[in-house]
Amino acid sequence: MTAFVETLRCRLDGIREQGLWRELRRLDSPAGRWIETGGRRLLNCASNDYLGLAAHPVLRAAAAEAARRFGAGSGASRLICGSLAPHHELEAALADFKGAAAALAFSSGYAAALGTIPALVGPGDVVVLDKLVHACIVDAARLSGAKLRVFAHNNLADLEGILRWSQTRPRPVGEPPGNVLVVTESVFSMDGDQAPLTDLVKLKDQFGAWLMVDEAHATGLYGRQGRGLADALGVAGRIEVQMGTLGKALGAAGGFIAGSRELRELLINRARSFVFSTAPVPAASAAATAGLEVVRSPAGDELRTQLWSRVRQLRDGLANLGWPVPAEPSAILPLIVGDEAAAVELASRLREAGFFVPAIRYPTVARSAARLRVTVSAAHSPEDVESLVRALADGRPADGL
Ligand SMILES: *Cc1c(COP(=O)(O)O)cnc(C)c1O
Repeated sequence: MTAFVETLRCRLDGIREQGLWRELRRLDSPAGRWIETGGRRLLNCASNDYLGLAAHPVLRAAAAEAARRFGAGSGASRLICGSLAPHHELEAALADFKGAAAALAFSSGYAAALGTIPALVGPGDVVVLDKLVHACIVDAARLSGAKLRVFAHNNLADLEGILRWSQTRPRPVGEPPGNVLVVTESVFSMDGDQAPLTDLVKLKDQFGAWLMVDEAHATGLYGRQGRGLADALGVAGRIEVQMGTLGKALGAAGGFIAGSRELRELLINRARSFVFSTAPVPAASAAATAGLEVVRSPAGDELRTQLWSRVRQLRDGLANLGWPVPAEPSAILPLIVGDEAAAVELASRLREAGFFVPAIRYPTVARSAARLRVTVSAAHSPEDVESLVRALADGRPADGL
């Protein structure tokens, strides 16, 4: 036992020495516009609840009602006896929202990726990832056993080279040529920039590859009624596998895949994170359905208008201070500091000033690409954004932080 603890202690020392130490910060409030932690009240600039729906009365009521009617837990996996009405209602609403034939809900976005990619590709196939995709996609691709290739971030020429290679790669005699799955995000989680989806769709069609797009940070925000960036660009119908999360702009918890009926059926049969895991709690699924309704309603349009106005305000403020901002508007604004310790130091200075902004370090982003990840919410007021910009004025990159 002591040897075990000693080994872990050594590893922990290593993490600390690299400036990569992480710890949990207990909140004594909901993770809303304001949070209470360590007896202090801080403005929350860290949440992915971009439309402020997690605290919305309609979602709270839907969760409470589902808990009353269906209980706190689902009792088993969906295939055993856990496939409850709230899950089916959510999936029908998701399919309609995405303009897809079908959808399948998972207990998390992580589980959605982890189950889906290995269900679609395996040994003999190729999976091609953008360099900056989320860890769950990397883990899923590794787990699949397919040959893994990575293309430079948003670099179509690099992707084309890989697709060309995939067509000519040597295959054992008599073996089928195998499938090629390209996976990317529409809006990238740590950089807030966008994938060139229109050209990606053209390219994968040209090579007969399949495309999976994770819209975790675009669902609810872009496109008609918040359907996502693929909808905004008019290419949703040409993407084989559309992924999204329910815990970000939709204000609840869970993940989903939307696409053809056959895709849904294959995942029900083959996605191990779906088959071998207890169904999402009914309250989460009911809250997500209610979140979808709000997102699609005129109130949702209003929240989006509010959000984009705050985003514009923050982008202008940051640009004035000399921080580079992503080319296209996004609710995620990374302040790239580089050095891990400097990022932690800036985060702690902002906390002193009353703002909660997380420092993001390796392995979430590359080494020496540490950053503060500022997120904007429709729940923020113009004064909130103004005060954050004022606080940041004390830590401009030009000042060497
Ligand atoms: C958050 C996130 C996920 C994981 O979703 P969870 O529901 O939090 O497990 C997947 N992909 C991306 C891009 C994300 O940002």
